[in-house]
Order: sequence, then C-alpha cells, then structure tokens
Amino acid sequence: MPRKILHLDLDAFYCAVEENADPSLRGLPFAVGGRPEGRGVVASCSYAARQYGVRSAMPMSQAVRACPGLIIRPANFKAYGETSRQVMTRLHDLTPDVEQISIDEAFLDVTMLRDPAEQIARQLQALINSELSLPCSLGVASNKLVAKIANNIGKERAGKGAPPNAVLVVSPGEEAAFLAPLPVRELWGVGPKTAERLLTMGIRTIGDIAAQPEARLTQLFGKHGAEMALRARGIDERRVETEDETKSISKETTFARDVRDGEQLKRVMRGMADEVGQRLRAEGLHGSTVKIKLRWSDFTTLTRQVTLPQPTQHNDVIYHAACDLFDKTWAAGRPVRLIGVGVSGFGEAAVQRTLWEDEAQADAQQGKLEATLDDLQSRFGRGMIKRGSALEED
Ligand SMILES: [Mg+2]
Repeated sequence: MPRKILHLDLDAFYCAVEENADPSLRGLPFAVGGRPEGRGVVASCSYAARQYGVRSAMPMSQAVRACPGLIIRPANFKAYGETSRQVMTRLHDLTPDVEQISIDEAFLDVTMLRDPAEQIARQLQALINSELSLPCSLGVASNKLVAKIANNIGKERAGKGAPPNAVLVVSPGEEAAFLAPLPVRELWGVGPKTAERLLTMGIRTIGDIAAQPEARLTQLFGKHGAEMALRARGIDERRVETEDETKSISKETTFARDVRDGEQLKRVMRGMADEVGQRLRAEGLHGSTVKIKLRWSDFTTLTRQVTLPQPTQHNDVIYHAACDLFDKTWAAGRPVRLIGVGVSGFGEAAVQRTLWEDEAQADAQQGKLEATLDDLQSRFGRGMIKRGSALEED
C-alpha cells in the first residue's frame, strides 16, 4: 500500500507573522532582516517585494536598491517561535507522525488516516489559513522526496505577487513522470558542483539521470550515484521521523561579541565536538549525522549536515566533519554570533564497525584515549583537561 506523505511549508513565514501583527503591511513590499546601512541581510521578504527581485539571504542594501521604498522590519524570533509552535500543535492534532524540519516546515505521514491524502492536505491548509491566518503550501506524494519537490513546484506555479497557498499532489505511480522534466537541481543531494558535472555530460533533467545506466552514475559519483539513480526514479523509502527518533546530542555557544576569526571559531568547535563525543560515549550512542549551526550577526541562522559513512562517537570524527561543513559554509571574515555542533542519526554501530578492520583498530585506540579523558574530566571537572587546540578558549 503506498504511503500518504505531506510536506508542509509556511509561505514567507516571518513576513506572514509580521502582517498578522500589523495588517497595514499586507500586500506591501517589505522585508524582515537587518538594516541596510549595517551589513544586514534579508531573512524573509513579502511576495510583493519578490516582484522587485528581492530574495531572502540577499544583502539588505542590495534589496533596497532593487526595491526603493522597501519597508524593513527587524526580526522578532520570539513571535516566530511562538507561532511555529501553534502550527506544529495543529499538525500533531492530526497525526503523531510529524517530522519538523525547520521553524516553518514539516513532513507528516497520514497513511493511517482514512481520507484521501489530497483532502487531508486541503483541510489542514484551510485550518491553518483560518485559525492562524497563515498562508501555507503543501506537497502530497507517496514519499518525502517527491512530496517536498511537489511543494516547491506547486509554489513556483502559483501566481506571483501573493502567497502561493498551493497544494500539489503527485499520485502514486506518477513519481518518475512528475520528476522527469524538472532540472537536476531540484533533486536532493544535487548541489551546484554535481549539477555542473552532470551538465557537461548532457544531463539536464531528472529524467536524464533516470535514463542513465546506474553503473555509470556509481562510477562517476560513487555511493552517491546509486542513491541519485533511485531518487531520479522517485524512489525514497525514508520514514517520517518523529521527535524521539530524531533525538540529537548537540552543543552551541552564543558569543558576547561576534567572532570573525576562523581559527578561534574552529577552537570553539573543537571544544564542542569533544563535549558531544563525551556525551555520546556516556550514553552509549553512535551517530551518523554531524550537523553545524551558524548564526550571523543579523540573526539569520543556518544549519548544514553531513552523513558519515558509518556512525561514530569519536571526537575527532565529529570535529573534522564539522570543520568540513564550516569551511564549505563560512566566507572568511564573516562575523558569527552563534556556533553549534551536533550529532544525530543514532544506530547500530558495533556490527558495521567490525566490517572495517583497520578503522576498528584505530577506533579502539582512539576509544582508549577518549575513555581516559572522559574519566579524568568526570573526576576533575571539565575545566581541568583541555586539548592543546582548545586551550585559548575561556
Ligand atoms: Mg517557508
């Protein structure tokens, strides 16, 4: 039996909250974010502003040039968080199978509900529209991948200048046909570099990927290629993961003053990776996903994550993965207000590890050192033992 998966995304969420607080903003070009004379960026912009080419993540100074007279509102994260919780409560009223992806985005598995998926999606949208006065869009499909892409496309197809409030349904069996004409960039895991490589091979659409022999994709992109082949055919078995399952262990630090020194930021990450590793070992957990969180001086926040070839609980593995993500994300000198490192995706590691003799041995040695450090730290407190690289941390 095909599953019924919804992907819900609130339309220009921060702006919608601002409009509810101040209805005089409705229909006007405005943006939420930092001041243009500082180095503020656009955190969210109204659909009227988008008509002028204003986009989120754009420097506010550029947004104001594109749209003279643009109204700017400072971000009010407390209000956004509160409103987000109200939305998530509505989702949980419908089904316990809710996976919140971000402040304004979630997957729902409604397979167990009797009504057709499209009807459930439209009722949920109507409820959020009427009870919370928030526009929202939904993608409906038999899996997460296609539901998410359906939502993107549904929003794109909606009229511009106003919130899309779209619903796009991809019926079971139609997944591959729906994806086929779309550009490769719509597919998860296809970043600009991969897209460029595909283009040099004459591969432009997801259908072009699906038409490739899987062996060729594997040859070119390794394990990622095999996954790409499946996704291009609209196949995605991942479950909607409820909160208990997405449990993660993480550590974050807000700086009293923004930090723009890469070495210093890495020392802080080193310390956080050590603490996360220590907690993983204390709880007997191995995680396969390493995540970093960065908040810029204008309060825009982003997270980046990577899936490791095998689950880990080791400080160094966590640290190096976090650094890779950081190097890919951070433009040298950009001031950072908050930084965080986390690990999630806990699974059975022991069995997998024995398949990798060398690494198992390296792990064992690493494990011994870390166990000793953990022990010392628990006896003498965290301040006592610090790695060389973390010494200059306060
Ligand atoms: Mg949104």
